[in-house]
Formats: sequence, structure tokens, C-alpha cells
Amino acid sequence: MKAVVTGGAGFIGSHLCDHLIAHGHQVVALDDLSTGSEANLAQLRGNPAFTLVRGSILDAGLVGDLVSRCDTVFHLAAAVGVHTIVDDPLRSLRTNLHGTENVVEAAAAHGARFLIASTSEVYGKNDADGLTEDADRVYGSPLKSRWSYAAAKGLDELVAYVHSVHTGLPCVITRFFNIVGPRQTGRYGMVVPRFVDQALAGEPITVYGSGDQRRCFGSVFDVVPAAVRLLDTPEAHRRAVNLGGTEEVTIRELADRVVALTGSSSEIRYVSYEDAYGAGYEDMRRRMPDITLAHRLTGFRPRRRLDDIIA
Ligand code: NAD
Repeated sequence: MKAVVTGGAGFIGSHLCDHLIAHGHQVVALDDLSTGSEANLAQLRGNPAFTLVRGSILDAGLVGDLVSRCDTVFHLAAAVGVHTIVDDPLRSLRTNLHGTENVVEAAAAHGARFLIASTSEVYGKNDADGLTEDADRVYGSPLKSRWSYAAAKGLDELVAYVHSVHTGLPCVITRFFNIVGPRQTGRYGMVVPRFVDQALAGEPITVYGSGDQRRCFGSVFDVVPAAVRLLDTPEAHRRAVNLGGTEEVTIRELADRVVALTGSSSEIRYVSYEDAYGAGYEDMRRRMPDITLAHRLTGFRPRRRLDDIIA
């Protein structure tokens, strides 16, 4: 395989580059280093099978040039992280919509296989008891800037799907659910590395909201091979497939586990969503993937437990 990995200097992207190189493939990572870093790829420096290109997916000429020399595209570049999205929803829309169009169009034009990293956020706030007019599903509400990410990713899925139908582009959509592992930074709001950083520094662990929100955390080491397998599985093409862990915890329990595993003396402090992100912010009460489809298509089963992931 000769693969382009957009967002290859990011958390998941750098592990994907490692995985592909370890399996004998050639890899070009395209990244603007906005949230990713060269340090994530230090282990691949000097490897003749690997190249890092610093540039943006918004540069259609560059994207087309790189994709024309490859047969597979893993599209992971995106504006991510709750802070990034809430602070600058327009940037999130621009990168995640126009950037994706550039990458999909290049893959279709050059006959490359295509995988896009989508997100559980496209499901919206499915635990609502009833839908009111201001529900988080309404992407356009000015108070719901967070949903610029979900809305753009949802449209990305559609762009990829429609290209596939019209051009025959072999494409897979992976919906990642709270993926965690080494190199993930807590700077953009990701909860596990943020808690671990706070615990190791002896600072208060800040839980946003009540702490009763339920989540499942998946290991990057489980989902990266599964994503590659999906692209190798024709039955998975033109499908959106959930990938993530299935061990459910509340955020309060997560904070307790981080404190216990790090032996930290940090206190756990509760901060309202409003104080953390501003008025109008809400979050999903529960987010858990049904991974039946991924299992049926590839035998996917998350192997790492939450304690291993935190460690
Ligand atoms: P990340 O921030 O580490 O990776 C994103 C990468 O994209 C970064 O390296 C960043 O520098 C790069 N990037 C951003 N804008 C770019 C641009 N215009 N041109 C080129 N590169 C650009 O985050 P991640 O967690 O590794 O996310 C990777 C992908 O997986 C993203 O598409 C994200 O939406 C998706 N995803 C991740 C999770 C998760 O739990 N980590 C969950 C759902 C979806």
C-alpha cells in the first residue's frame, strides 16, 4: 500500500502511520501541525518508507499532488477538541467540510481507496426524552457552536458516500467513540489525558457537569488495526462503522480511577458546563457504541481495559 494519512502527526494519525509502516507499507503524512506535532512521528524520522509533508488539506493542489502518487487515503485531519470547536466554529466548518471535499475529490480522481474518520457526535443527543426546538440536534443554533463539528462530520460522511455511489470510490466511514492512548493531549479538552495531567501535577481534577455522564473509552491500539481491516473488507465499503470501547464508566468514576492509578492526592472539583464552555453548552448524558457491525465485518473486539488505557 502507498498511503496518504491526513492528520498523520495527530494522536490517532501517528499511531496509524506506525501501524502501516510496521506492516511494510509506504506512508506520506500530510499535517498542518495545528493540533498534531512532529514529536508524535519522531520514531519514524529517517525511515525511507515514511514522509511528513507540512501543509493543509485546504490546499487542493497539494492534496491532489500527494494523492496522485498513492493508492490509499486515510483522512483523519480535522479541527478537533471541544475548545477548538466552541471557540472557532467557523474554522471547524471550513477545515472539516472544505478540507474533506478536497481529499475525497482527490481520492476519487486518482482511483485511491478512501477511509474517513467520523465521530460518534453525528448521532447527536439521542438520549433526549422528547425533541424541543432548541435541542442539540439543531446544528444551526448560535448557542450550539459545538455542533459545527458534528454537522460538518455528518456532511463529510455524505460527501464520501455520494462520491462512492457516483464514482465507485471504495470508501469506509469509521465513527470513532472517545479513543484514548499515548500522544493524546489534554490541551483541547480530551478528558482522559486532562485528568491524568492534572493528577500527575497534583492539581484539582476538574469534572465538567455533574460527573454522571456515561462514556466508553476505546484504545487507539484496538481501533487503528480495525480501521485498516475495514478498508480491506469490501463488505464494509460505503458503510459507516462504529469503533470504540464498550466498558462504560461515569466521568466521576473515571476521575476516581485516575486518582487511584496515579496515586495522586488531587481533589476532584466539579465545574459547571457554563463556567467551562459558556452559556448554552450541554453534553450527551450517555455515549456507548454498538460494535456489532464492526465485529461482524472484521471480528473487532476491544481488547484493552480502561485501567490499561489509563496506565
Ligand atoms: P488530533 O488533533 O490529534 O488529530 C488531527 C490532526 O489533523 C492533527 O495532527 C492536526 O494538526 C491535523 N490538522 C488539522 N487541521 C488540518 C488541516 N487543515 N490540514 C492538515 N492537517 C490538519 O485528533 P485525533 O483525536 O487524532 O483525531 C483524528 C481524527 O479522528 C479526526 O478526524 C477526529 O475528528 C476523529 N475522531 C477522533 C476521536 C477521538 O476520540 N480521538 C473521536 C471521534 C473522531
